Amino acid sequence: MSVTPSYLQDRWQSGTGAGTALVNPVSSATLAHASSAGLDLGTALQHARLRGGPALRALSFAQRGDLLDALAKAIYSVRDELLEVSMANTGVTRSDAKFDIDGGTATLSSYAALGRELGSAMFLTDGAAEQLGRSPRFAGRHIRVPLRGVAVHINAFNFPIWGLAEKLACAFLAGMPVLCKPATATALPTARAAKAMTDSGLLPAGSFSLLVGSVGDLLDHLGAQDVIAFTGSADTGAKIRSHRAVVERSVRVNIEADSLNAVVVGPDVQPGSACYELFLRELVREITQKSGQKCTATRRVLLPAALVGPVSDALRERLLPEYLPKTPTDATARMGALATPSQATDVLQRARELATHCDVVVGALPAEPTTLFPPCVLLAKNSKTAALHSLEVFGPMVTLLPYDGSVVQAAELVALGEGTLVTTVYSDDLEFTTQCVEELAPWTGRLLLGSARIAEFSTGPGLVLPNMAHGGPGRAGGGLELGGVRGLSLYMQTCAVQGARPVLDRLFPAP
Ligand code: NAP
Repeated sequence: MSVTPSYLQDRWQSGTGAGTALVNPVSSATLAHASSAGLDLGTALQHARLRGGPALRALSFAQRGDLLDALAKAIYSVRDELLEVSMANTGVTRSDAKFDIDGGTATLSSYAALGRELGSAMFLTDGAAEQLGRSPRFAGRHIRVPLRGVAVHINAFNFPIWGLAEKLACAFLAGMPVLCKPATATALPTARAAKAMTDSGLLPAGSFSLLVGSVGDLLDHLGAQDVIAFTGSADTGAKIRSHRAVVERSVRVNIEADSLNAVVVGPDVQPGSACYELFLRELVREITQKSGQKCTATRRVLLPAALVGPVSDALRERLLPEYLPKTPTDATARMGALATPSQATDVLQRARELATHCDVVVGALPAEPTTLFPPCVLLAKNSKTAALHSLEVFGPMVTLLPYDGSVVQAAELVALGEGTLVTTVYSDDLEFTTQCVEELAPWTGRLLLGSARIAEFSTGPGLVLPNMAHGGPGRAGGGLELGGVRGLSLYMQTCAVQGARPVLDRLFPAP
């Protein structure tokens, strides 16, 4: 079986050797192989710096936006094929495959619209000019300009299209060329989307590269103007941060790592209320969508003790048998498989460890590793047990943690997770919600305030929106992606320009 090629120096080229087998996680059939052995990554990076960077920087924001729009359309044009490849290579249902593909193209389109808003400028100004000394003639102003290196995007296995698109949208709009390295095990959908982009003829020479296979010596070739945007496990994130080239050359690094996202249900929430129904609906989605393999999926649910029984019963009723995992091609499948055979082993091992501190109140752990892992709900024996706040099970599982209904205890428990991508508060009590925002915001990148008022409109905690920041403190990696124009900062240098006021006014005229 042939090796899936990489796209480097504007041409498709294959690594040498047999490579790693890419499999269907349900049938175990080998679909392709991936190898980066023998590829000249140093030359590929230099080509991107020298050709791709200047080509993108020559475009205005509006023109870069047009490019993103056209790339979104190119990916969308092969959507049916992408659905098939995603289902085969990542075990997702058709609906979950659509979530990944459409999330990716929607993010590209959203940044295309931002590009049109930013207009004919080539870089960003940040704030107004300020007088710096005794005379108004001496002034200063901050600008943000694209870095001159390559944006290296290292992605996790769970969102092969969205991961490609959301990072590329920000880097391209900022004016930086991209080298995308998807997780090897689920690289096929990314490779197909990349082929659609290169076939479109839209990409300026050198602006886009794809590396299929392991990272090899890629990081050794990075320099002071390059950027790494990484999504994946905290362990790999730590390796990247401490890589010799990164440390010695201060390569800019953004880490999106794992986190135990929390939900806090307020003491005012009563079974049957609109807020309670919203909470349950969104929790079922977080457990089952992509079989719980979302970095933003809820892992910990803080419940007033009186709600433990009703919530356990309601989850049992809604999850079983409706969401028992099925082969993705089964038209009745509501939940698909774990993405790789190694995930099956990892998820079961972690789930067993977590279960030693809990009772299993919904479902049952499988006896053997399986990619068709059923939904499970655990109930903590002691909500303060450290493992419940540190052990991430990247599958369809949550832990219910009873608490006393106070903001103080909720904050104490949420903080034990040492940083989340998203935390949700469900309550119609404004005082409780206000105190939660004060206490929880430092520990999370995003706070969703679920209440009866938004019950009809909420997109839930798991959905990452292009105009809202994505990333969280501490355990979550300390990174920031997206958030509209905020997402461009990673790829730009902020420079304070000081000089004569008339010169600054001429350099940076008001729009
Ligand atoms: P992973 O094992 O850390 O791999 C992530 C990526 O890093 C892959 O592309 C992998 O390549 C690459 N990699 C591995 N070793 C490397 C090294 N020494 N240097 C540079 N790159 C290296 O994570 P995963 O298992 O794919 O993803 C699951 C984890 O990601 C979960 O814990 C989840 O919470 C987290 N996640 C976070 C977010 C977020 O936005 N915060 C989103 C999704 C997932 P190979 O595949 O070739 O090994």
